[in-house]
Amino acid sequence: MTHAVVVGSGPNGLSAAVELAAAGVEVTVLEARARVGGGARSCEGGIVAGLVQDECSAVHTMGPTSAFVIRHRLGDYGLEWLSAPIDMVHPLDGGSAGVLHRSVQDTAAGLGADGTRWRRLFGWPSEHFGALSEDIFQPLIRIPRHPIGMARFGMPTLVPAATLGRYFRTPAAQALFGGVAAHAFQPLNRPLSSAIGLGILTAGHHSGWVVARGGTQAITDAMVARLTEFGGKIETGVRVERAAQLPRADITVFDLTPEDVVRILGDRLPRRIARSFTRFRHSPGAFKVDFAVEGGVPWTNPDAHRAGTVHLGGDLAEIVRTEAQVVAGQMPQRPFVLVGQQYLADPSRSAGNVHPLYSYAHVPHGYPGDATEAIIGQIERFAPGFRDRIVGMAVRSTTQMAVYNANYVGGDIITGAKDVRQLVFGPRITASPYTIGVPGMYICSAATPPGPGAHGMCGYNAARLALSKL
Ligand SMILES: Cc1cc2nc3c(=O)[nH]c(=O)nc-3n(C[C@H](O)[C@H](O)[C@H](O)COP(=O)(O)OP(=O)(O)OC[C@H]3O[C@@H](n4cnc5c(N)ncnc54)[C@H](O)[C@@H]3O)c2cc1C
Repeated sequence: MTHAVVVGSGPNGLSAAVELAAAGVEVTVLEARARVGGGARSCEGGIVAGLVQDECSAVHTMGPTSAFVIRHRLGDYGLEWLSAPIDMVHPLDGGSAGVLHRSVQDTAAGLGADGTRWRRLFGWPSEHFGALSEDIFQPLIRIPRHPIGMARFGMPTLVPAATLGRYFRTPAAQALFGGVAAHAFQPLNRPLSSAIGLGILTAGHHSGWVVARGGTQAITDAMVARLTEFGGKIETGVRVERAAQLPRADITVFDLTPEDVVRILGDRLPRRIARSFTRFRHSPGAFKVDFAVEGGVPWTNPDAHRAGTVHLGGDLAEIVRTEAQVVAGQMPQRPFVLVGQQYLADPSRSAGNVHPLYSYAHVPHGYPGDATEAIIGQIERFAPGFRDRIVGMAVRSTTQMAVYNANYVGGDIITGAKDVRQLVFGPRITASPYTIGVPGMYICSAATPPGPGAHGMCGYNAARLALSKL
């Protein structure tokens, strides 16, 4: 029988494990923490009894089209996607806002002079996202299955986000685009800085900014159920630090950062690969605050009351400026803040009139300070009186983020800077980003293509490669 070991049980470790186990491989997953799931965990009652909080990932624009999620029918294992009445709102000072609906037409209708441009940029790719995702979810250095479609989708990604944002004329459309582009944690005047934003917006227009019923934990629970069905085993509380700890196996898959793979394998890694992995660059950090809020947030903009996600960062120019600051290691006075109101899609997460509010600010890598007040200040800017409604909160700094999950070095929640090189290739320049130069060993974390998210596609791709080499 073929044996496999997967180190790390984030969505990519678990997807790799499921795919291997489904092929008849005997799989053991080793997880450092007491609970599996990495960036796909939720908890109940952490702040107020009955309140469900997503501990990391919350919104899953790529989840419904993930080939892994579809192939393994995670819906049969309890995973259900839910949507808020409005996908996302980006409020501006003065009470106006950019409003993003799942439908391109509805979004365009609310964008006035920019409606036609929004439709032109997102209409065609979102209609064809099902097919395009067959390429987008794979390493980019390969012959695409849909070359013409990918060329059409890929062209605008080459334009820096700050420039592409100015394709729109209204502050609302500019900010709507700029806020999503900020998910790249990159200076928005760099080439390819539009890619992640365009990917999220296109996927969102196709499938919605969905959340999992009951919390993101449902994604992990579905994967664990599927793995267990195939006889896969999980050992928690096992932090792998040395190669000697690894059980003998035909396939070993690391759901870890490239540096941790070097730390574990040492001399077993070819020197050129160890050198690339050691030079792996990380992104700025996230400082996370979860609130329990009585009666919800008193947003000035009426649409924000119905939006699953609210982006707070002012206009495009302000977003470009503050994102450049965090990359340069400076803490902005008013950082970009993402707010999640998942309870609007899934009311079971609230306790009566007390609702869980999810938020994180973009901060410099390893930021040692406390960004709680900066986050509250940004919410107050667009929702005066918010502070008075807070009945409890839980804070996770960049340092605590890395303790919570060793993959989130310095608070880097996207597992590595998504600059041109790392976005295109992953941790090293190669057409085979999951291989690490040791036969039978692979890396599958979000450091590899197609990158961050709880879609499981990095692990799925790595496992399929491993199976093809057996
Ligand atoms: C605050 C936050 C918000 C996010 N929001 C979103 C979102 O809304 N939507 C979205 O799609 N994505 C989001 N993400 C990103 C998403 O969660 C990650 O991209 C995803 O979890 C990456 O999965 P992974 O399997 O590569 O690694 P991880 O999920 O990071 O899992 C790695 C696992 O490996 C374990 N591990 C590490 N070192 C060792 C070791 N030495 N031995 C054994 N085990 C080890 C860790 O404990 C962890 O369980 C967010 C992340 C964070 C932190």
